[in-house]
Amino acid sequence: MSYSRIVDVYEALDSTTKRLEKTSILGDFFADIGEKNPKLLPVVTLLALGRVFPTGSEEELGIGTKLLMKAIAFVVGVKPEDVEDMQRDAGDIGQAAQNLFMKKKQSTLFSRSLTIEKVHSNLIKIANISGSKAQSKKLEILRELLSSASPTEAKYITRTVIEELRVGVGEGTIRDALAQAFDVDKGIVERAHMLTNDLGLVAEVSKEEGVQGLQKLTLLPGKPVKPMLAQLSPGISKSILEMGWALCETKYDGIRVQIHRLGNEINIFTRRLENISKAVPEIVEYIRKSLPSKNFIVEGEIIVTKDGKPISFQYILQRVRRKYDIERMRDEVPLKLYLFDVLYYDGPLIDVSFEKRREVLESIVTVSGDKIQLSRNVKVTPESLQDAEDLFNESIKAGHEGIMIKDPHAPYMPGIRGKKMLKFKAEPETLDLVIVGGSYGRGKRAHLIGSYLLAARDENNELKTLAYAATGLDDQTLLELSTLTEPLITSKIGRQVKIAPHIILEIAYSEIVKSPEYESGYSLRFPVVKRIRDDLSIDDIDTVERIDSMFKGPD
Ligand code: ATP
Repeated sequence: MSYSRIVDVYEALDSTTKRLEKTSILGDFFADIGEKNPKLLPVVTLLALGRVFPTGSEEELGIGTKLLMKAIAFVVGVKPEDVEDMQRDAGDIGQAAQNLFMKKKQSTLFSRSLTIEKVHSNLIKIANISGSKAQSKKLEILRELLSSASPTEAKYITRTVIEELRVGVGEGTIRDALAQAFDVDKGIVERAHMLTNDLGLVAEVSKEEGVQGLQKLTLLPGKPVKPMLAQLSPGISKSILEMGWALCETKYDGIRVQIHRLGNEINIFTRRLENISKAVPEIVEYIRKSLPSKNFIVEGEIIVTKDGKPISFQYILQRVRRKYDIERMRDEVPLKLYLFDVLYYDGPLIDVSFEKRREVLESIVTVSGDKIQLSRNVKVTPESLQDAEDLFNESIKAGHEGIMIKDPHAPYMPGIRGKKMLKFKAEPETLDLVIVGGSYGRGKRAHLIGSYLLAARDENNELKTLAYAATGLDDQTLLELSTLTEPLITSKIGRQVKIAPHIILEIAYSEIVKSPEYESGYSLRFPVVKRIRDDLSIDDIDTVERIDSMFKGPD
């Protein structure tokens, strides 16, 4: 099928901001593909999201902006710096590619017409290249692909390569469109997606087997699930009394991991469902030793300790981000795993109560040494509320974050932040916000972005500014942030810059206040940057709705 077919869909999606219209454009497209070329359905479902691989896949294209610019520059016959300049003017590299392709004499371009199959298979080929000269081999395929592209096709190939389609379509719209295309219930599509995290598969099953097939889809070890999230507890005793009785646990401050075993293979996913198995080989080893060799999915928190005390969360990010020097880092930044839940053991367990899941977890984990342990878990009844207070104090004293209060009757609810799992922390609540702009410093810090403009998400998934945060960064983090953000700058006027939304910061503050100055209608007093949240994706940032409810206080 011609690549221009999906490009027309991208353009149509881009031309409207209305979600219902987007849903219907995509619904028609999926229905058409389902009829004419069903094999292509999983592929176009992912491509419509700007992705080549399903969530949690270890495969990645491995093409940075520099390489992409080189490819574009070569095909249109300019210097990579010209592409960079055009990117600054145009706002993104895809638009820059389109502008440059339009300037180029048409005769030498798009000699052959591209098909969706060709674009897709070439992108897969690029991902499979490794070893020596990988970069130049990738560049060659990319050049070949781009040289057959029209200007608009070049825009979308470029955006697909950097996985940023910019047509305002998220997973929710894709799900609704699949429901519409194949006449299946939205809720059932959503559940199937929550459990498999594979929209391509959900599309295929919707088309081929309808509701009955979707209902049969369940958790599969190897395919990461969106984690169940916690709400803030208004008070330890109040929360426990509301639940009747509770299972309280130490809240460890590290990164959350979901560990899957399928056959002999063990995979470890972060909260944003990235596969980090290669970066943390010792965790794979501990798991192999401490759990039976059945298929399972367990969850836990990885932390770093020094002399028995947990140390800063940022150290863990150094580990999980890492692609090289893993063996050396193993000694320098030793990891420890606390397991706290089981979602699958010899079959799915998410519909089973937490009390029962914890029993299963305790029965399958053999704790030996201190590298892998079960989270500390205490049963607290209305008569023993003091035990929860004691656990909290003990947790803080040991350098952990606070406690989790879990409803023993609750099933595991993927992707839901509900009242069945609560957190109570010593430190006041923080917000996770994305950087969308900044301002260069003065004097000694004139070369660094010294303050960052931050945004939250509104109900339409649009970013709304909320505050500038300037303090809280030590020199090294300031430098690290500046290095991370510079390639993301899309425009610069005086000292002010706009930054493409990728980097998420955790922000502490003294108060949320109403403010007409920012798009969200709110602002933060004394915002302080606590840390870079590499473990979150833009879908995980705080929402204006949540800020609104925090401003108004608990119900
Ligand atoms: P925070 O920033 O407060 O850690 P978060 O936004 O990362 O929160 P929440 O769902 O709000 O995530 O808080 C729960 C998090 O606490 C989990 O995602 C997990 O990483 C961590 N955690 C630490 N110890 C436990 C535990 N014993 N049980 C469940 N989660 C735990």
